[in-house]
Amino acid sequence: MKKVILARISTIKVPGLRSDLVNLGLITEREISIDGTKVIVSVNVPMDFPGDLAEIKTLIEDKLKGLEEIATLLVVLTSERPAPAIAQPPKLKKRPTDAPGEDARPESAAIPGIKTIIAVASGKGGVGKSTTAVNIALGLRSLGLKIGLLDADIYGPSLPRLMDIHDRPEIKDDRVIPLERYGIKVMSMGFLMQEDNPVIWRGPMVVTALMQMTREVDWGELDVLVLDMPPGTGDAQLTMAQQVPLNGAIIVSTPQDLALIDARKGLKMFKNVNVPIFGIIENMSTFVCPHCGESSDIFGHGGAEEDAKRLGVPFLAAIPLHMDIRKHSDSGTPVMVSQAEGPHAAIYRNIALKIATRLFPDVDED
Ligand code: ADP
Repeated sequence: MKKVILARISTIKVPGLRSDLVNLGLITEREISIDGTKVIVSVNVPMDFPGDLAEIKTLIEDKLKGLEEIATLLVVLTSERPAPAIAQPPKLKKRPTDAPGEDARPESAAIPGIKTIIAVASGKGGVGKSTTAVNIALGLRSLGLKIGLLDADIYGPSLPRLMDIHDRPEIKDDRVIPLERYGIKVMSMGFLMQEDNPVIWRGPMVVTALMQMTREVDWGELDVLVLDMPPGTGDAQLTMAQQVPLNGAIIVSTPQDLALIDARKGLKMFKNVNVPIFGIIENMSTFVCPHCGESSDIFGHGGAEEDAKRLGVPFLAAIPLHMDIRKHSDSGTPVMVSQAEGPHAAIYRNIALKIATRLFPDVDED
């Protein structure tokens, strides 16, 4: 099948390129990933490519549309420079921010239909960022808001597992239709890739793919889009923070010092691009023994709260390290759904309320 796809693509004449995409090595079998009838083609466009990137995408889509073996097709453009359809010409514009002074961030274009976007980030992986993002999204939903959740962690997408989604999204009029679960719209690269055959992302590809996932998904009308960011503070995260019109960021950290050092990097990254930090969450805080009920501070406790104070950012909550959170998270029934009246859900709802009041100052707190 890959050979058939390559053969078709090789017949495309791209204005501005001296040969075809296959001959130039811009698309090889490695850039094609097939899962049943779902196909992802990534094109690594050279930095000095003079033409229109969006045109390449259309040309490939047109060429492959006729193949009956393909039910859904996603063409991901990857380039050392941002695609024109995505990046806006830098305009110096002031936008609402907590930071005093001029905001010199290039204005990132608003995404039609999406009122606000928040990022859930962490300095490193494994701190419970995705679990927290899912439960916050559900917490916001429980306030009656229309919510989308985008798994931007394309290295290790975990939303298919955390939300127990095994379907594939449909593509309609060149736009991916997000899947719905527990009343929120969800999109993850994990819906499009095979778990045992991960797409190998090179640095710039990540950024372009993330931009596409934010903008080329048919989110419809949303009050809040929650971005589960890739862990860390590298280029991909920075570009996301710059190019997606974020209203605020939430940093998830464990109490360990090391994690806090990483969390500090996250704070700095958002501060550098003038994205307001809504607060820090200390996850896997106190351990409550499910048998005897005794609390133990396995990783220490209170580090994040002190850190938040020192850094002058709000401390949103301490979420305990609890078996129920792990069990329900990993079986795709987040505690916000499976134990909606329980103590953990109450913590997430409280965080959601704090976020909602920052996003929509006129939200009724009753
Ligand atoms: P990340 O997105 O930071 O990589 P995940 O959300 O995937 O982290 O969580 C990593 C693991 O920790 C998962 O098995 C998850 O169920 C578990 N986990 C997350 N938060 C908690 C918590 N508060 N208590 C118990 N287990 C948790």
